[in-house]
Amino acid sequence: MQKKSIAILGGGPAGATLAALLARDGYNVGIYHTEKRPELIVGESLLPAVVPILRELEVEDEIKAFSVYKPGATVWLSHDEIIPFEFGWAKGGLPNYAYNTPRKEFDEAILGAAIRNGAVLLPYSARLRQEGDSVFLDDGSLAASDGLFAGQPDMIVDATGRSRQIAKLLKIPTQRGTRKDTALFAHMDKVVMTSPGHIHVDRYEQGWGWRIPLQGKVSVGIVVDPLHLKKYGDRAEEQFDNFIAGNQCIGLYAKDARRLTSVVKYSNYQLISQKMYGKNWACIGDAAGFVDPVFSTGAYLALKSGKMLYQAITLDRPGAFAAYEKTFHRELGMWQKVINTWYNGRLFSLYRAGQTMRNNFIGKGIEPHIEKHLSRIFTGEAVNGVYSRGLLAFMSRFALLVRRPKDLVIH
Ligand SMILES: Cc1cc2nc3c(=O)[nH]c(=O)nc-3n(C[C@H](O)[C@H](O)[C@H](O)COP(=O)(O)OP(=O)(O)OC[C@H]3O[C@@H](n4cnc5c(N)ncnc54)[C@H](O)[C@@H]3O)c2cc1C
Repeated sequence: MQKKSIAILGGGPAGATLAALLARDGYNVGIYHTEKRPELIVGESLLPAVVPILRELEVEDEIKAFSVYKPGATVWLSHDEIIPFEFGWAKGGLPNYAYNTPRKEFDEAILGAAIRNGAVLLPYSARLRQEGDSVFLDDGSLAASDGLFAGQPDMIVDATGRSRQIAKLLKIPTQRGTRKDTALFAHMDKVVMTSPGHIHVDRYEQGWGWRIPLQGKVSVGIVVDPLHLKKYGDRAEEQFDNFIAGNQCIGLYAKDARRLTSVVKYSNYQLISQKMYGKNWACIGDAAGFVDPVFSTGAYLALKSGKMLYQAITLDRPGAFAAYEKTFHRELGMWQKVINTWYNGRLFSLYRAGQTMRNNFIGKGIEPHIEKHLSRIFTGEAVNGVYSRGLLAFMSRFALLVRRPKDLVIH
């Protein structure tokens, strides 16, 4: 039987993962892909939850060669409260490592796997038109397939990232987050790191930031309210350099650092589409929904949604797409809740509560438990385990009684 034809718009991690899996099963897959993104692309810190999918795509060794081995994550609540988490402490079902990776090469590796498996790369900026609740490739996009699609493909998948072509075309309602921070980032050298290979997440008086070790350099990002950033200048470069120079916490680790690149700006809002599939279409990755990047979940959710949609397509059963949408909604919603506890101070109040209790009889038993389940946030598995989820919710409420979360609110 002739396998279905699938047009995928966007060859980032989500689109390329779906293309690689479908093409391997003999589907007729075309990936429209043009690179419109800035010189540097965010999303350099991966979670251990990504590694099994990289293995499945047979790209782990390729990615390992240009990446930095990542055994954990370190949180600087201040320069004298530095908290390292090793992925091994999670004792879950995932590898105890991940990678910090240059995004351009990472994306190329996954796209390469898709092409090796038989997907066809169509270097064209695809456009869609709407008819009722269906979407179709416009004439130019169909012509650009160069005969791969004789007529309209059986299915169109939106993996265009934050361009969200289908959601915008069909005016799909969204659920938005409350924060509207701006992220500025650049690559630097001579940045101080306290735990080799770890992503370092830094809490500032205003906002927070990341330090991600890459080969020969460090990616430094700051995530700050745009109104506050204005005080540091008008241009992104001025704002980034002056914020770093004037900040006590970053000043310590970036004292001798030099910026190696220009500064790239991202709006850091959060947005989840209510509908992720229709009659002849579906959305994956950021095109379906994205949450705040503090726990490095974006690439993982992109790969995972690509894989989940692959399962729905190959199942070819009523309800398979509804199940995809339900699962992805649930996962995004759960991450949103965990992310809120970073911003409202509860997550690390929980950690502090564990530290306070470790010297008494009951606390001795509870503290390793807290450590294990907090580590599971950094590996990516906390929201998938009913027990981890429930325990974190319970303990962060309990932590309120022990330490004051308002001390750790992110402004
Ligand atoms: C400030 C910030 C920091 C982040 N940090 C991290 C992190 O440390 N770790 C992490 O895992 N995630 C991080 N993320 C999130 C991560 O970058 C994204 O979630 C991830 O890139 C989503 O992958 P995707 O494949 O859905 O979309 P994208 O990576 O955006 O890929 C979409 C691709 O489609 C192409 N395209 C768009 N429209 C068309 C069209 N019409 N035709 C053809 N091609 C098209 C684009 O050029 C692009 O290459 C961060 C995000 C932000 C904003």
